[in-house]
Amino acid sequence: MTNQSKNVCVIGSGPSGLVAARELKREGHKVVVLEQNHDIGGQWLYDPNMIKFNTKVLYVGPLNYGVPSEDLKWVVRSKEKKREEVEQVFDAVVVATGHHSKPRFPCMQGMDTWRRKQMHSHIYRSPEPFRGEIVVVVGNSYSGQEISMELVKAAKELHKIWYTVNIDTLEEDGSAIFMDGSIIIADTILYCTGYNYSFPFLDTKGMVVVDDNRVGPLYEHTLPPLLAPPLSFIGIPKKILGLPFFESQGKWIAQLLSGKKALPSCEEMMKSIEEFYHSKEVVGIPKRFTHEIGAIGFEYCDKSAKYVGLPKLQEWRKELCILSLVNSCVNLETYRDSWNDDEKLQEALQSPYFTQLGVELEDPSLQNSN
Ligand SMILES: Cc1cc2nc3c(=O)[nH]c(=O)nc-3n(C[C@H](O)[C@H](O)[C@H](O)COP(=O)(O)OP(=O)(O)OC[C@H]3O[C@@H](n4cnc5c(N)ncnc54)[C@H](O)[C@@H]3O)c2cc1C
Repeated sequence: MTNQSKNVCVIGSGPSGLVAARELKREGHKVVVLEQNHDIGGQWLYDPNMIKFNTKVLYVGPLNYGVPSEDLKWVVRSKEKKREEVEQVFDAVVVATGHHSKPRFPCMQGMDTWRRKQMHSHIYRSPEPFRGEIVVVVGNSYSGQEISMELVKAAKELHKIWYTVNIDTLEEDGSAIFMDGSIIIADTILYCTGYNYSFPFLDTKGMVVVDDNRVGPLYEHTLPPLLAPPLSFIGIPKKILGLPFFESQGKWIAQLLSGKKALPSCEEMMKSIEEFYHSKEVVGIPKRFTHEIGAIGFEYCDKSAKYVGLPKLQEWRKELCILSLVNSCVNLETYRDSWNDDEKLQEALQSPYFTQLGVELEDPSLQNSN
């Protein structure tokens, strides 16, 4: 069995980038992580190694595109703050740039000419600026619910709309006209309508596109059949137990690059992707939800873990996840400050997963040697 070592660039040092980097390193690859921020953690920011901070990736594209080659390499152009742009060539690139930074806006008639305040939840910080206002909140997922709970105490009136199709037109005078004919003259429309996948730096010559929030074609939400494994994406799926899943994805990519694992043929991968799309379509799931794993999240994590020889999700982990989800649904106002999973947490802390953590940290092969 081959065990090739590749020169790999991971873009992003959030949870998925960090896990990918660790798995690549464990597999014997040489890894550079480029991160535009000053520290690791992505949305959770927290502690460094093998990472070049303050380095934004501006361009990633195939080297010598069009020249037939067995071994497609990637050009990565990046810029460190106050420095010149740098161009490097890598054997592989792992895109781990997250998907909660480009706000998604709905399309509504009159949006462009409506003169009052329209904003996305991404830039919402506190209810104070909305004091005394009539606010329409569009979207009823986590951010819509939580922001509404804050706004209700400050706004003069709060109107929650589940779906944008409920609004017919936005008029220049500030009226929002609804499908049932009712009218609200609002001061602000706040869109809690989620995020779009976006890879502004990535040039795949059209081999990977984002179409109505479907990134594709991607085999198992990870690998573009025409460009894999030298190009891969980690952390694309939504509504999944992130960290264990990223770990399986990272291991899989690392093993594909070292030659320990092989991919099906391009045709087989494309067929599997088409079948997956079709399975969504027949049950009426819109394209934009392609990467929402949702209810089958545990099974999907287990399937991915099994494939790379990792254990199934521990029962305590699933139970903790369910307990916190239920708590957040049932006790929307208090779930951050009071919870009922102490017993389960103790059980988790007594499990080998935590009791053997130190053993792994003392393993010199896992220390940073960059
Ligand atoms: C609305 C919302 C929903 C969520 N849903 C889930 C969920 O279902 N499951 C779950 O586990 N967690 C969820 N989370 C939590 C969180 O998003 C994830 O746990 C985790 O942060 C995702 O990790 P990531 O590494 O993929 O992305 P991020 O944490 O976003 O990290 C991406 C990193 O890439 C860097 N980057 C981006 N572009 C560039 C560039 N051009 N050059 C260099 N660096 C770049 C960024 O600076 C960042 O550090 C959610 C969060 C939000 C806000």
